[in-house]
Amino acid sequence: MVNSGFLSKFKHPGVKVIAVSKTKTPDQILEIYNAGHRDFGENKVQELAQKAEELPKDINWHMIGHLQSNKVKYIAPFVHLIHSVDSKKLLKTIDNEAKKSDRVIKVLLQVRIAEEETKFGMEAEDLHEILEEFNANLYPNVKICGLMGMATFTDDQSQIEREFETLHDIFIEMKVVYFTQAYYFKELSMGMSGDYELAIEHGATMVRIGTLIFGRRNT
Ligand SMILES: *Cc1c(COP(=O)(O)O)cnc(C)c1O
Repeated sequence: MVNSGFLSKFKHPGVKVIAVSKTKTPDQILEIYNAGHRDFGENKVQELAQKAEELPKDINWHMIGHLQSNKVKYIAPFVHLIHSVDSKKLLKTIDNEAKKSDRVIKVLLQVRIAEEETKFGMEAEDLHEILEEFNANLYPNVKICGLMGMATFTDDQSQIEREFETLHDIFIEMKVVYFTQAYYFKELSMGMSGDYELAIEHGATMVRIGTLIFGRRNT
């Protein structure tokens, strides 16, 4: 069941909720849209592109899932923010496709903070390499606006906290080293339905909430 109450009760100044609508129907999304929400997240390119075509044009679409380079072209013309940039190759492709669409695409770099092997993301060294190139203007059609991460799926609160804290530390480090002159490196996307409160305590500026808004997913 869709629950727009979560959004109306959500009161954290400076924290944006991305309503994660994967597997949910356009009608369910419209319920949340009609309650005034405009930021929605999807994790699959085809589903994202299809919903974007069907739904109102003033929705800000966030790509939050693993993105293959050969699929970037399908979302480049309209995507609002790509949270899940996990390789230099992908960043280069986004830059190329953004240029073709005559756009500058906003992205976050995904950092691997979880101990689970299954989670995507880069290490701090990869970030240094990319941000040096970014500052040397090698990616003129992307704007790196911050970092994204996913904590380990566990009941161990202290482990989740450690991982969020690590990501926040890396975020501050990158900001200090590479973005002293740039206001736009300011987003830290971390936290989902199960751990968003911890994420906010540790400096999240965007939380990606699916289940608490749209109910449980069957797939
Ligand atoms: C599905 C998903 C979410 C939301 O998960 P919930 O637990 O339903 O809030 C957040 N981030 C990513 C990357 C996801 O794939």
